[in-house]
Amino acid sequence: MSDSNDLAGLVAAVHADVAGRIGEGRVADYIPALAKVDPKQFGIAIITCEGETAAAGDAGTAFSIQSVSKVFTLTMVLERLGEKLWERLGREPSGSAFNSIVQLEQERGVPRNPFINAGALVTTDVLMAGRSPRIVIDEILGFLRERTDDGSIAFDAEVARSEAETGFRNRSLANFIRAFRNLAHPVDDVLDVYFHQCAIAMTCRQLARAGLYLANAGLDPVDGDRVASGETARRINAVMLTCGHYDASGDFAYRVGLPGKSGVGGGILAIAPRRASIAVWSPGLNAAGNSLVGSLALERLTARTGWSVF
Ligand code: GLN
Repeated sequence: MSDSNDLAGLVAAVHADVAGRIGEGRVADYIPALAKVDPKQFGIAIITCEGETAAAGDAGTAFSIQSVSKVFTLTMVLERLGEKLWERLGREPSGSAFNSIVQLEQERGVPRNPFINAGALVTTDVLMAGRSPRIVIDEILGFLRERTDDGSIAFDAEVARSEAETGFRNRSLANFIRAFRNLAHPVDDVLDVYFHQCAIAMTCRQLARAGLYLANAGLDPVDGDRVASGETARRINAVMLTCGHYDASGDFAYRVGLPGKSGVGGGILAIAPRRASIAVWSPGLNAAGNSLVGSLALERLTARTGWSVF
Protein backbone atom coordinates (compact mmCIF):
# COMPACT_ATOMS: atom_id res chain seq x y z
CA MET A 1 0.00 0.00 0.00
CA SER A 2 1.59 3.28 -0.99
CA ASP A 3 0.90 6.73 0.39
CA SER A 4 -0.91 8.90 -2.14
CA ASN A 5 0.61 12.32 -2.75
CA ASP A 6 -2.60 14.21 -2.11
CA LEU A 7 -3.33 12.33 1.06
CA ALA A 8 0.28 12.71 2.22
CA GLY A 9 0.03 16.43 1.48
CA LEU A 10 -3.18 16.63 3.48
CA VAL A 11 -1.79 14.99 6.63
CA ALA A 12 1.40 17.08 6.35
CA ALA A 13 -0.70 20.25 6.11
CA VAL A 14 -2.85 19.29 9.11
CA HIS A 15 0.30 18.45 11.07
CA ALA A 16 1.71 21.87 10.22
CA ASP A 17 -1.61 23.53 11.20
CA VAL A 18 -1.37 22.19 14.75
CA ALA A 19 2.41 22.04 15.19
CA GLY A 20 2.53 25.17 17.33
CA ARG A 21 -0.07 23.75 19.73
CA ILE A 22 1.47 20.31 20.38
CA GLY A 23 1.96 19.84 24.11
CA GLU A 24 -1.14 21.81 25.11
CA GLY A 25 -3.72 20.23 27.40
CA ARG A 26 -3.24 18.03 30.43
CA VAL A 27 -2.38 14.34 30.35
CA ALA A 28 -4.80 12.13 32.28
CA ASP A 29 -3.28 11.93 35.74
CA TYR A 30 -5.93 9.89 37.53
CA ILE A 31 -4.33 6.81 35.97
CA PRO A 32 -0.70 7.02 37.20
CA ALA A 33 0.74 5.11 34.22
CA LEU A 34 -0.83 7.64 31.82
CA ALA A 35 0.46 10.61 33.82
CA LYS A 36 4.00 9.65 32.75
CA VAL A 37 3.34 10.04 29.01
CA ASP A 38 5.19 12.93 27.30
CA PRO A 39 2.49 15.40 26.18
CA LYS A 40 4.66 16.77 23.35
CA GLN A 41 3.59 14.09 20.88
CA PHE A 42 1.17 14.13 17.97
CA GLY A 43 0.31 11.59 15.33
CA ILE A 44 -2.22 11.35 12.52
CA ALA A 45 -3.01 8.50 10.13
CA ILE A 46 -5.66 8.20 7.44
CA ILE A 47 -6.75 5.22 5.41
CA THR A 48 -9.29 5.70 2.65
CA CYS A 49 -11.96 3.27 1.47
CA GLU A 50 -9.72 2.72 -1.58
CA GLY A 51 -6.96 1.54 0.75
CA GLU A 52 -4.70 4.56 0.36
CA THR A 53 -2.82 5.52 3.50
CA ALA A 54 -0.92 8.53 4.76
CA ALA A 55 0.49 9.42 8.15
CA ALA A 56 2.46 12.14 9.87
CA GLY A 57 4.12 12.90 13.19
CA ASP A 58 4.18 10.13 15.79
CA ALA A 59 1.75 7.94 13.84
CA GLY A 60 3.89 4.87 14.53
CA THR A 61 4.06 5.32 18.31
CA ALA A 62 1.78 3.05 20.33
CA PHE A 63 -0.48 4.67 22.92
CA SER A 64 -3.20 3.52 25.29
CA ILE A 65 -6.45 3.46 23.29
CA GLN A 66 -8.57 3.66 26.46
CA SER A 67 -12.19 4.47 25.61
CA VAL A 68 -11.68 4.13 21.87
CA SER A 69 -11.86 0.38 22.65
CA LYS A 70 -15.58 0.92 23.38
CA VAL A 71 -16.28 1.23 19.64
CA PHE A 72 -14.88 -2.24 19.03
CA THR A 73 -16.59 -3.94 21.98
CA LEU A 74 -19.87 -2.32 20.87
CA THR A 75 -19.36 -3.75 17.38
CA MET A 76 -18.71 -7.22 18.81
CA VAL A 77 -21.76 -7.08 21.06
CA LEU A 78 -24.15 -5.76 18.42
CA GLU A 79 -23.05 -8.47 16.03
CA ARG A 80 -23.69 -11.09 18.72
CA LEU A 81 -26.81 -9.79 20.40
CA GLY A 82 -28.36 -7.29 17.99
CA GLU A 83 -31.05 -4.93 19.16
CA LYS A 84 -31.55 -6.80 22.44
CA LEU A 85 -28.55 -4.88 23.78
CA TRP A 86 -30.73 -1.78 24.07
CA GLU A 87 -32.86 -3.45 26.75
CA ARG A 88 -29.90 -2.92 29.08
CA LEU A 89 -28.38 0.23 27.70
CA GLY A 90 -29.49 3.60 26.33
CA ARG A 91 -28.30 5.40 23.22
CA GLU A 92 -28.76 9.03 24.17
CA PRO A 93 -26.00 11.53 24.89
CA SER A 94 -25.43 11.80 28.63
CA GLY A 95 -24.45 15.45 28.90
CA SER A 96 -22.23 14.25 31.75
CA ALA A 97 -18.58 13.35 32.22
CA PHE A 98 -17.35 9.94 31.07
CA ASN A 99 -17.11 8.62 34.62
CA SER A 100 -20.25 10.23 36.04
CA ILE A 101 -22.44 8.25 38.42
CA VAL A 102 -25.38 10.66 38.92
CA GLN A 103 -27.67 9.47 36.10
CA LEU A 104 -27.32 5.84 37.09
CA GLU A 105 -29.38 6.35 40.24
CA GLN A 106 -32.20 8.18 38.48
CA GLU A 107 -32.24 5.80 35.53
CA ARG A 108 -32.12 2.67 37.67
CA GLY A 109 -28.81 1.27 36.58
CA VAL A 110 -29.40 1.55 32.83
CA PRO A 111 -26.49 3.64 31.50
CA ARG A 112 -27.27 6.38 29.00
CA ASN A 113 -25.06 5.05 26.22
CA PRO A 114 -22.30 2.50 25.50
CA PHE A 115 -19.49 5.08 25.41
CA ILE A 116 -19.61 6.44 28.95
CA ASN A 117 -17.81 4.18 31.41
CA ALA A 118 -21.03 2.84 32.95
CA GLY A 119 -22.34 1.84 29.52
CA ALA A 120 -19.09 0.23 28.48
CA LEU A 121 -19.16 -1.89 31.64
CA VAL A 122 -22.56 -3.24 30.56
CA THR A 123 -21.28 -3.90 27.03
CA THR A 124 -18.32 -5.78 28.45
CA ASP A 125 -20.63 -7.76 30.75
CA VAL A 126 -22.70 -8.82 27.72
CA LEU A 127 -19.54 -9.87 25.86
CA MET A 128 -18.63 -12.09 28.80
CA ALA A 129 -21.67 -14.39 28.54
CA GLY A 130 -20.36 -17.95 28.80
CA ARG A 131 -16.71 -16.91 28.73
CA SER A 132 -13.93 -16.39 31.25
CA PRO A 133 -12.36 -12.91 31.55
CA ARG A 134 -9.16 -14.22 29.93
CA ILE A 135 -11.03 -15.51 26.88
CA VAL A 136 -12.91 -12.22 26.43
CA ILE A 137 -9.69 -10.18 26.61
CA ASP A 138 -8.23 -12.53 23.98
CA GLU A 139 -11.33 -12.12 21.81
CA ILE A 140 -11.08 -8.32 21.90
CA LEU A 141 -7.37 -8.50 21.05
CA GLY A 142 -8.17 -11.05 18.34
CA PHE A 143 -10.73 -8.70 16.81
CA LEU A 144 -8.18 -5.86 16.61
CA ARG A 145 -5.40 -8.12 15.33
CA GLU A 146 -7.66 -9.38 12.58
CA ARG A 147 -8.79 -5.87 11.61
CA THR A 148 -5.20 -4.69 11.34
CA ASP A 149 -3.68 -7.95 10.14
CA ASP A 150 -1.14 -7.36 12.88
CA GLY A 151 -0.65 -10.03 15.51
CA SER A 152 1.61 -7.82 17.59
CA ILE A 153 -1.21 -5.71 19.07
CA ALA A 154 -1.29 -6.25 22.83
CA PHE A 155 -2.34 -4.59 26.05
CA ASP A 156 0.06 -2.63 28.21
CA ALA A 157 0.23 -4.58 31.48
CA GLU A 158 1.46 -1.57 33.45
CA VAL A 159 -1.50 0.57 32.35
CA ALA A 160 -3.96 -2.25 33.14
CA ARG A 161 -2.44 -2.65 36.63
CA SER A 162 -2.37 1.07 37.21
CA GLU A 163 -6.07 1.35 36.36
CA ALA A 164 -6.99 -1.60 38.54
CA GLU A 165 -5.15 -0.04 41.50
CA THR A 166 -6.79 3.36 41.15
CA GLY A 167 -10.13 2.54 39.49
CA PHE A 168 -12.29 3.43 42.48
CA ARG A 169 -14.88 5.21 40.38
CA ASN A 170 -15.17 2.42 37.87
CA ARG A 171 -15.49 -0.05 40.75
CA SER A 172 -18.28 2.12 42.20
CA LEU A 173 -20.06 2.32 38.84
CA ALA A 174 -19.86 -1.45 38.39
CA ASN A 175 -21.17 -2.13 41.91
CA PHE A 176 -23.97 0.34 41.40
CA ILE A 177 -25.05 -1.26 38.11
CA ARG A 178 -24.83 -4.69 39.67
CA ALA A 179 -27.07 -3.51 42.53
CA PHE A 180 -29.69 -2.74 39.86
CA ARG A 181 -29.13 -6.26 38.44
CA ASN A 182 -27.80 -4.93 35.15
CA LEU A 183 -24.46 -6.78 35.43
CA ALA A 184 -24.64 -10.56 35.23
CA HIS A 185 -21.01 -11.26 36.13
CA PRO A 186 -18.95 -10.58 39.27
CA VAL A 187 -17.81 -6.95 39.43
CA ASP A 188 -14.14 -7.94 39.66
CA ASP A 189 -14.36 -10.04 36.49
CA VAL A 190 -16.09 -7.29 34.49
CA LEU A 191 -13.52 -4.74 35.68
CA ASP A 192 -10.68 -7.10 34.83
CA VAL A 193 -11.81 -7.24 31.19
CA TYR A 194 -12.66 -3.53 31.08
CA PHE A 195 -9.27 -2.41 32.41
CA HIS A 196 -7.47 -4.66 29.94
CA GLN A 197 -9.51 -3.50 26.93
CA CYS A 198 -8.74 0.13 27.87
CA ALA A 199 -5.04 -0.72 28.25
CA ILE A 200 -4.68 -2.00 24.67
CA ALA A 201 -1.84 -0.13 22.97
CA MET A 202 -2.08 0.81 19.30
CA THR A 203 -0.51 3.29 16.91
CA CYS A 204 -2.49 5.81 14.85
CA ARG A 205 -1.80 3.71 11.76
CA GLN A 206 -3.21 0.59 13.41
CA LEU A 207 -6.21 2.40 14.86
CA ALA A 208 -7.19 4.02 11.56
CA ARG A 209 -6.87 0.63 9.85
CA ALA A 210 -8.94 -1.10 12.54
CA GLY A 211 -11.82 1.37 12.16
CA LEU A 212 -12.00 1.26 8.37
CA TYR A 213 -15.05 -1.03 8.29
CA LEU A 214 -17.04 1.78 9.92
CA ALA A 215 -16.30 4.07 6.98
CA ASN A 216 -17.43 1.44 4.48
CA ALA A 217 -20.84 0.25 5.73
CA GLY A 218 -19.39 -2.56 7.86
CA LEU A 219 -17.34 -4.18 5.08
CA ASP A 220 -13.57 -3.86 5.35
CA PRO A 221 -12.64 -2.74 1.81
CA VAL A 222 -9.02 -3.88 2.10
CA ASP A 223 -9.41 -7.52 3.16
CA GLY A 224 -13.06 -7.90 2.08
CA ASP A 225 -14.21 -9.04 5.55
CA ARG A 226 -17.80 -8.31 6.53
CA VAL A 227 -17.16 -7.03 10.09
CA ALA A 228 -20.65 -5.71 10.77
CA SER A 229 -23.87 -5.34 8.81
CA GLY A 230 -24.36 -2.04 7.02
CA GLU A 231 -27.14 -1.26 9.46
CA THR A 232 -24.96 -1.93 12.50
CA ALA A 233 -22.12 0.20 11.12
CA ARG A 234 -24.53 3.06 10.44
CA ARG A 235 -25.87 2.86 13.98
CA ILE A 236 -22.42 2.75 15.58
CA ASN A 237 -21.52 5.88 13.61
CA ALA A 238 -24.69 7.54 14.91
CA VAL A 239 -23.79 6.76 18.51
CA MET A 240 -20.20 7.92 17.93
CA LEU A 241 -21.47 11.24 16.61
CA THR A 242 -23.92 11.83 19.45
CA CYS A 243 -22.04 10.27 22.38
CA GLY A 244 -18.39 9.71 21.39
CA HIS A 245 -17.00 12.76 23.19
CA TYR A 246 -19.11 12.65 26.37
CA ASP A 247 -20.44 16.05 27.41
CA ALA A 248 -18.42 17.65 24.60
CA SER A 249 -20.07 15.56 21.84
CA GLY A 250 -22.09 18.56 20.64
CA ASP A 251 -18.98 20.71 20.44
CA PHE A 252 -17.11 18.01 18.51
CA ALA A 253 -20.02 17.69 16.05
CA TYR A 254 -20.09 21.47 15.69
CA ARG A 255 -16.35 21.84 15.13
CA VAL A 256 -15.44 18.60 13.33
CA GLY A 257 -18.71 17.13 12.06
CA LEU A 258 -17.65 13.49 12.02
CA PRO A 259 -18.55 10.45 14.10
CA GLY A 260 -15.65 10.14 16.53
CA LYS A 261 -14.60 8.35 19.68
CA SER A 262 -12.03 9.68 22.09
CA GLY A 263 -10.01 8.09 24.87
CA VAL A 264 -8.16 9.59 27.84
CA GLY A 265 -4.89 8.29 26.37
CA GLY A 266 -5.31 11.16 23.87
CA GLY A 267 -6.44 9.09 20.89
CA ILE A 268 -9.46 9.80 18.69
CA LEU A 269 -10.87 7.56 15.97
CA ALA A 270 -12.96 9.56 13.49
CA ILE A 271 -14.98 8.19 10.59
CA ALA A 272 -15.67 10.01 7.34
CA PRO A 273 -18.45 7.77 5.98
CA ARG A 274 -17.71 6.31 2.51
CA ARG A 275 -14.38 8.13 2.49
CA ALA A 276 -11.88 7.27 5.20
CA SER A 277 -10.98 6.25 8.72
CA ILE A 278 -8.78 8.68 10.62
CA ALA A 279 -6.83 8.29 13.86
CA VAL A 280 -5.19 11.15 15.71
CA TRP A 281 -3.28 11.09 18.95
CA SER A 282 -1.90 13.71 21.27
CA PRO A 283 -1.88 13.03 25.02
CA GLY A 284 -2.85 16.48 26.36
CA LEU A 285 -6.59 16.57 27.12
CA ASN A 286 -9.16 19.37 27.32
CA ALA A 287 -11.51 19.80 30.29
CA ALA A 288 -13.91 17.15 28.96
CA GLY A 289 -11.15 14.52 28.76
CA ASN A 290 -10.75 14.60 24.97
CA SER A 291 -7.44 15.18 23.16
CA LEU A 292 -7.03 18.93 22.78
CA VAL A 293 -4.65 18.93 19.81
CA GLY A 294 -6.25 15.79 18.35
CA SER A 295 -9.64 17.54 18.17
CA LEU A 296 -7.98 20.59 16.69
CA ALA A 297 -6.30 18.47 14.01
CA LEU A 298 -9.63 16.89 13.06
CA GLU A 299 -11.22 20.32 12.91
CA ARG A 300 -8.48 21.42 10.49
CA LEU A 301 -8.87 18.20 8.50
CA THR A 302 -12.59 18.67 7.88
CA ALA A 303 -12.09 22.39 7.20
CA ARG A 304 -9.53 21.48 4.53
CA THR A 305 -11.45 18.58 2.96
CA GLY A 306 -15.15 19.32 3.49
CA TRP A 307 -15.50 15.79 4.87
CA SER A 308 -17.96 16.84 7.58
CA VAL A 309 -21.14 14.77 7.38
CA PHE A 310 -23.20 17.97 7.49
N1 GLN B 1 -10.02 3.54 31.29
C1 GLN B 1 -10.58 4.86 31.40
C2 GLN B 1 -11.50 4.93 32.59
O1 GLN B 1 -12.21 4.00 32.78
C3 GLN B 1 -11.32 5.17 30.13
C4 GLN B 1 -11.92 6.55 30.13
C5 GLN B 1 -11.76 7.25 28.83
O2 GLN B 1 -10.91 6.95 28.01
N2 GLN B 1 -12.51 8.30 28.66
O3 GLN B 1 -11.54 5.87 33.34
